Amino acid sequence: MNQLLLDLTAVLLLALGLRGLAKLRTARTANGLAALAIGLAVVGLLLNQGLAGWPWMLGGLALGGGIGVVLALRVPMTAMPETVALFNGCGGMASLLVALGVVGLPGPMGLLATVSVLASVVVGAITFSGSLVAMAKLQEWLDTPAWTQRQARHAVNITLAVACLVCCVVVVQGQLLGLAPLTLLALLLGIGLTLPIGGADMPVVISLLNSYSGVAAAAAGFVVGSALLIVAGAMVGAAGLILTQVMCTAMNRSLTSVLFGGALGASSAAAGGDKEAESYGRITSCSAEECAMALEQAERVVFVPGYGLAVAQAQHSLRELARLLEGHGVEVSYAIHPVAGRMPGHMNVLLAEADVPYDQLIEMDVINPEFPRTDVVIVLGANDVVNPQAKNDPTSPLFGMPVLEVDQARSVYVVKRGLGAGYAGIKNGLFELPQTAMVFGDAKAVINGLITELRGLGVGKKALATV
Ligand code: NDP
Repeated sequence: MNQLLLDLTAVLLLALGLRGLAKLRTARTANGLAALAIGLAVVGLLLNQGLAGWPWMLGGLALGGGIGVVLALRVPMTAMPETVALFNGCGGMASLLVALGVVGLPGPMGLLATVSVLASVVVGAITFSGSLVAMAKLQEWLDTPAWTQRQARHAVNITLAVACLVCCVVVVQGQLLGLAPLTLLALLLGIGLTLPIGGADMPVVISLLNSYSGVAAAAAGFVVGSALLIVAGAMVGAAGLILTQVMCTAMNRSLTSVLFGGALGASSAAAGGDKEAESYGRITSCSAEECAMALEQAERVVFVPGYGLAVAQAQHSLRELARLLEGHGVEVSYAIHPVAGRMPGHMNVLLAEADVPYDQLIEMDVINPEFPRTDVVIVLGANDVVNPQAKNDPTSPLFGMPVLEVDQARSVYVVKRGLGAGYAGIKNGLFELPQTAMVFGDAKAVINGLITELRGLGVGKKALATV
């Protein structure tokens, strides 16, 4: 089989893989297809270039593959966004290194090759440093420094961008040494662009950096003359951009306000749970027993999963609780907010892991009109995505972000450990509403408590009898 055929097959498989990733049902197979595409691309490359330097290739494969396997096995679901940010950064770094490596080869470079190298260096470096900053922020190793919220940051970033441009002109004129300051300046620009962004805007940044890594790979494709890399990079770039747009719409934010408007809200680490607890007025709390009694009486129950559910790893217990209720004749569904959790699709993946039927996962626009006819809503470790201030309070930093309108339901039980803020670091008026009761505790412990209480009420027995 010649290389062109292998490349075309790989592109086709990659396109099918990306398409399949759009649906939970096909995502696993799609991942396999994309991996096969990359494998074919490597085979095609080896057929074309020969096996010179194979010990280096094998070494790289063993090292990169080994790190990938360890990460895949050890990283918990809650740390996936940080991992995705790190992988984006690796993509950027690879493009940067490929471009710098090609410059070191003997022989003159044409204008197209020089421009491709420059694009690869600039976008690769911005993606690399920006992704590391995003990872450190998600990991809560890094806060948003106060100075980055002032207008001065724009002057710093514009100066860096202009300096990058000057270096590019120098390189185009044949002074390849200009690549050294260009790399450094682009790395600083990546930090300068990502550092001010924080709070609830992080999902947008992650998907945007994903798009950048695709653009950097496409540029690297021009550098090494690989049609496959150009196509694959362009597909990742476009997919990342579409996801960015979807995330912006979900949060009612424009891309410019995310990139240049400063942090939306503060990180929960910065906000601090105790401070939040002081600012609440009337709060009703109740036991798992009371909540179980409400569930036992309900005809229609909606679960709202959030980041806390993932932290508690309570998805399997939740599925068991849902089965118990369904056996009792209760209509159960799950309300999915597009930015619930810490990465796009976080809740879908989490619930799929516990075999929750796909048709019970209802998207925000579809479930919101259903809340007024819902007897009981159980909010499980979610906070920002159910905050009614996003609709009602123009002074709230979340104002305008579409939220799950759980306050419209007859009764709402919020399961969380205390009155700590969510990722955006702000108070949630839902907790003070008369129809809301807080069930304090770890999500898994509370759900297990609810299962025990429901069984105590005979729900399990009735369910068994009906089977
Ligand atoms: P939030 O971050 O708003 O709230 C999570 C809540 O979970 C906290 O208030 C916390 O309260 C509670 N919690 C933590 N651990 C547990 C536990 N073990 N058991 C029970 N509760 C627990 O989550 P949401 O899902 O509502 O919102 C997501 C937020 O994250 C949005 O602001 C979104 O923009 C942002 N984000 C989303 C990304 C994405 O791509 N989806 C990426 C990055 C950020 P307490 O401490 O009191 O228990």
